[in-house]
Amino acid sequence: MPVEDKIQKDISLAQFTTFRIGGPAKFFIEVKEKDDLPGAIKWARENKEKFFILGGGSNIIINDKGVDGLVIKMTNDDIKIHGERVEAQAGATLARAMRLATGENLSGLEWAAGIPRATIGGAVRGNAGAFGSSIADKIETIEVFNVKKEKFELFSHKDCGFSYRESIFKKDENYLIWNAVLKLEKGKKIEIESAVNKFLESRQNRQPKLPSAGSVFKNLLFDYLKENNANIADLASQAGVVKEGKVGAGWLIELAGLKGKKIGGAKVSLEHANFIVNTSQATAEDIVMLISYIKQQVRNRFNIQLQEEVQYLGF
Ligand SMILES: Cc1cc2nc3c(=O)[nH]c(=O)nc-3n(C[C@H](O)[C@H](O)[C@H](O)COP(=O)(O)OP(=O)(O)OC[C@H]3O[C@@H](n4cnc5c(N)ncnc54)[C@H](O)[C@@H]3O)c2cc1C
Repeated sequence: MPVEDKIQKDISLAQFTTFRIGGPAKFFIEVKEKDDLPGAIKWARENKEKFFILGGGSNIIINDKGVDGLVIKMTNDDIKIHGERVEAQAGATLARAMRLATGENLSGLEWAAGIPRATIGGAVRGNAGAFGSSIADKIETIEVFNVKKEKFELFSHKDCGFSYRESIFKKDENYLIWNAVLKLEKGKKIEIESAVNKFLESRQNRQPKLPSAGSVFKNLLFDYLKENNANIADLASQAGVVKEGKVGAGWLIELAGLKGKKIGGAKVSLEHANFIVNTSQATAEDIVMLISYIKQQVRNRFNIQLQEEVQYLGF
């Protein structure tokens, strides 16, 4: 079917986000076939529409007014396992990749247990991670569609410029992730499963049940804290919350007394202060106002600038 016949109009995006918030996309396409990605970009260009990529919608805030342009939802979700390598398309979920890998006694993605709906594409772009690991640790190559050159290219791990919650794909929107090859390690099933269960249990206790988009803010480098507020850095050391050179943004938000703070239907989670939850009928505006309030309070009280981990769409 030609790409133009796959493009739909006025599709509500709230259903595609874990926040359950967001207005309609003016145009919308699900991309499963490889040719449809360049095809969709070409269509957007010819029709003078902007385009946006949507993965699992688990780290995104979409404007209540919707998105003026073409939203490309990645639904390519093939996963193949060859020996220790997992080849996963961008629209496959991280959780499924982890489960299939576990089934083959492959270790290296256990940390991803319990992250709902995140796709490989979204995880690679934001270098998702937890419990001291991140997806970059296992990436061997990434196949991308280069929008400027209008062709697919293969990136090595080095080309991806990974660092904490960062990658070249975040800095340059011309690179769209098509698939990823991860190199895991053979392990013992009982040990892999026990690690998965341990991480799931830990999430059970600290991850809110209400709709959210995961951590709103990036954690803070301890060196940055020391430079900007030595007292807070000392307090973090004494409290034992410095882990791998970072301090959780949630710890600081709680210290600012913001746990439970509510604007409209948006609330700072009581379980984990770095999560904002949609208590009921929250609008994107409620979420954005709460984020801005938290940033202002933390800056005014501690001279610390929080940075969003969540992405905005349609603002
Ligand atoms: C309950 C909960 C727990 C979470 N826990 C964690 C955690 O422990 N660690 C963690 O790191 N994150 C966590 N998250 C956040 C989220 O799951 C991750 O950031 C995830 O990687 C986002 O992937 P996604 O497919 O949902 O991306 P989306 O939210 O759909 O998109 C995020 C960004 O990635 C871009 N993008 C998506 N796919 C592609 C692609 N193929 N090519 C180029 N750009 C693309 C989008 O344009 C957007 O800018 C959690 C979220 C929830 C709701």
